[in-house]
This record gives sequence, C-alpha cells and structure tokens, in this order.
Amino acid sequence: MWNGIRWDKLREECGVFGIFNKDDHDVARMTYYALYALQHRGQESAGMAVNDNGTILYHKDMGLVPDVFNEIILNHLKGKMAIGHVRYSTTGDNTRENSQPMVIKYRNGQLALGHNGNLVNASELREKLEEAGAIFQSTNDSEVILNLISRYSLISESIEEAIQKMMQDVRGSYSIVLLTPDKLIGMRDPLGIRPLCIGLLGNSYVLASESCALDAVGAKFIRDVDPGEIVIISDDGLNSIRSDVKEESRLCIFEFIYFARPDSFLDGASVYQARIEAGRRLAMEHPVESDLVIGAPDSGITAAIGYSMESGIPYGQGLIKNRYVGRTFIQPTQAQRETGVRIKLNVMKNAIEGKRLVIIDDSIVRGTTTKRIVQALKEAGAKEVHMRVSSPPMKYPCYFGVDIPSSKQLVASISSVEEVRKLIGADSLAYLSLEGLLSTPVGARCGFCSACFSGEYPMEVPREGSKNLMDRKRQAKI
Ligand code: AMP
Repeated sequence: MWNGIRWDKLREECGVFGIFNKDDHDVARMTYYALYALQHRGQESAGMAVNDNGTILYHKDMGLVPDVFNEIILNHLKGKMAIGHVRYSTTGDNTRENSQPMVIKYRNGQLALGHNGNLVNASELREKLEEAGAIFQSTNDSEVILNLISRYSLISESIEEAIQKMMQDVRGSYSIVLLTPDKLIGMRDPLGIRPLCIGLLGNSYVLASESCALDAVGAKFIRDVDPGEIVIISDDGLNSIRSDVKEESRLCIFEFIYFARPDSFLDGASVYQARIEAGRRLAMEHPVESDLVIGAPDSGITAAIGYSMESGIPYGQGLIKNRYVGRTFIQPTQAQRETGVRIKLNVMKNAIEGKRLVIIDDSIVRGTTTKRIVQALKEAGAKEVHMRVSSPPMKYPCYFGVDIPSSKQLVASISSVEEVRKLIGADSLAYLSLEGLLSTPVGARCGFCSACFSGEYPMEVPREGSKNLMDRKRQAKI
C-alpha cells in the first residue's frame, strides 16, 4: 500500500488518441480503428468519449477494443471530436471506474480526459484536494488532473491557463488528450517521458501515442508534441503553448525495447531500426558460436534479425506464439503465470532439434517466461541454448507508467548474471550494455529515461515500500 493507494497502481500502461473533425469523418469509427492499432499499449480496458456540440457522450468497459465496442455503440457515439484510451494495469486496480476516458462536469461544461503515464506526486496532491473537500470516485491519476484543471479554471482566464497551472503542480509522466466543450487539447510532460504525436487526416488534426495509429486511420504524420507543450485544436486550427523547460528530454527507452510497435516512429527514431541496431550491437558485444538465431516472439524477433545480420548466423523461427492469449503478466499468481506461458508459446521441434541456438529476447523481468522458453527448447532437442538480451539487466522499478514490478521481483536485481543463467538453465547469458542500448534509437531528437537499468531517475520518486514517499516541498498551491 502507498498512502491508501495500491503500490501496484504504479504499473500502468496506456495508449491515447484524439481527433477534431473538419471533414466528414465518423470520429467514433476513426477512434475505434486507432485504438485497435494501439491495443498493444493496454489490453484491460478501452473507452472513448465524443463531443456532440458541447455534450460529451462516452462508452468504456473492461476488455479488448473489439469486445468493448460494437456497431450499435459506435453508431450512437456521434460528434465533432473524440478521444480514446486503452489501458493495462496489474491486479487490484483493474476496475471499471479506473477505465478511461474519465468524464466530469465542471463550471464551464464537460471535460473528458485520457492519460498515458504516471504521476509520482498524485497521492500527495489527492490528499491536499481531499483536505479541501474534493471527493474522488477512482484511484486514477486522471481524476487528480481533472480536479486540478477544474479548480484552477476558477482563477484562470482560459482552460489553457488552468492547464498550465495544473502542469506546475503535477510531477511524473503524462501524455494527455482532453476534450473540452469546444476544443481537443493534447499535452506532454516537460521531460516527454511518454510519446505523443500529431497527424493530419484531410483537414482534421489527430493526436496519438504512436505513429502506427496515424497509419491505421490514414493520417499523415506532422510532428511529435514537444516535451512540456500544450497543443490546442479548435475551429481556429492548431495552436501551441510551449514550456520554457530547458532540461534535456527523457523519452522512456523501454518504448523502443519492448513497448511501442516496431512500425512506429517516436521523437524522430524508428522503433524497428532501434531494435535491429540493438540486435547488431548485441552480436558485437556478445558473439557466440551457434547454428541458428531465433527470437522470443514477438518482442525479441526484430533484435534477433539484427543479431543474425551482424553475426552471419542464419535466422529462423523456433517458437510460435498463440496470438489469442493475453499477456502472461495478467495472471495474478506465479502458478497461473507459468500456465499462461505454456499456452502462449510452442517450440518448432523440427527447426531446432540438434542445433546450437542463440535466442534473443528484449528483456528479462521476473525470469518466468525466459526459464520456460529455455526449458522448452532443450526438451525439444536443442543442443545448446545461448540467451542474449537486447537490453541491460533490469534492476529498478518504473514509476512512469511501464509495468515493471518492485525490485524484489526483478530477477536481475536480486541475482548476479551467473545466477540468472543458472536459474533459466541457459548455456550462456549476456545482456546488451547500457551505452550500446542508448545508441540504438538512431536519429532520435531526445534524451532518454533508462532508470529501470541504471536507477538514475529523472526526478525524485517514491521510495519503494515506503509510506512516506513524497518530497513535500512542492505542495499544490490550492
Ligand atoms: P520473464 O522471463 O518472465 O521475465 O519475461 C520476459 C518477457 O516479458 C520478455 O519476453 C519481455 O518481452 C516481456 N516483458 C517485458 N516487459 C514487459 C511488460 N511490461 N509487460 C509484459 N511483458 C513484458
């Protein structure tokens, strides 16, 4: 527990989308397609809100995008603008009231908000707001953000000014889409930890967590939202308020390693190319004699191709993933998780039998999946199994919106590389260096947060397990 809010809540992954229609698009359907393309960013709940002449209609529920929406619901959601959200969080917090968009009524009408990221001072701000009489219906950071915007609007000339004041108070990661009675607003935290980009569909602006969602709706990529920037889309077109933050930005490096889709570009760099580079560098840093390179599906595949290109060892398919099984992490207990892994992956016996294998995965978190994979490859007749990981040992939890558990559950945090090798039963194990990793997003116009590997967080974070987590210096001025 953390000040009454579950520690688990810190692990939350999401995708967001927004559209302001200036053509004849069906905004609900466009949002539906975009959320489909962002499904990998969250599989537990999905939702969308449309603005019909200042009235916000919305639908959200637990489940995958196609389970939550159907023809009747989409036909009902008519409007000029829309936002959508997909969400994943670990056990305990995966309730309907925490699904998004979050819709509220405030002094000047209705607001709907979708948030990707995690505030590190949410509980402190919440406590302050509660002391001032606010009531909350969820354990969601988004409700804290909406509350602040609503309160600040009482002393502001415009919603943009209220948002700027809210941004002075909150600390952490956030890429947000917001529907107001007459605008679609997007904003990104001052360090740009989570991605957000702008596209154009005909004359209509769209916002999305990843460029793959722009491709899905046929929109042209315009640019990324800058760290600390607020973009305001209305009948007047697109306007922007930029922050004066001078610090180097810190896009989450894990977006490139695992989280984002390979066909996306983030802050100028291709996710696909970054993964190929990671595989290439891994082959340079940790070569091994073998007959076949395989990737752990799906996240290890691209790096495996890179490893094969660099080493000259042929690439092949050794594991088949059942695409209809959800993430292994969804099962709350370790036993359930292990069953989940067995259902999810199967070995191609004839492809690997008698061979010395290099298997590439993007990361080892708890070690559960990796151990099962190595065991299954050996049982199917692999002569040797050499594990290569296209990121460094993951030792520290994430406070900014990636599902990385507490250090006690991170196998690299409690064991040496040799101990992990023994645990997973591989013939050898090696990881990509941090320096190598940070060079992989070629052409990126940003710096990176790599705290899960280095422990160097870009801002003060709650101490793990502590009840008194926050620095209280920057209290909300409410
Ligand atoms: P394990 O061996 O149990 O640590 O699982 C490692 C696998 O989990 C790798 O294939 C990763 O791609 C995958 N993985 C890493 N981070 C996450 C995450 N946040 N959510 C789900 N899977 C992840």
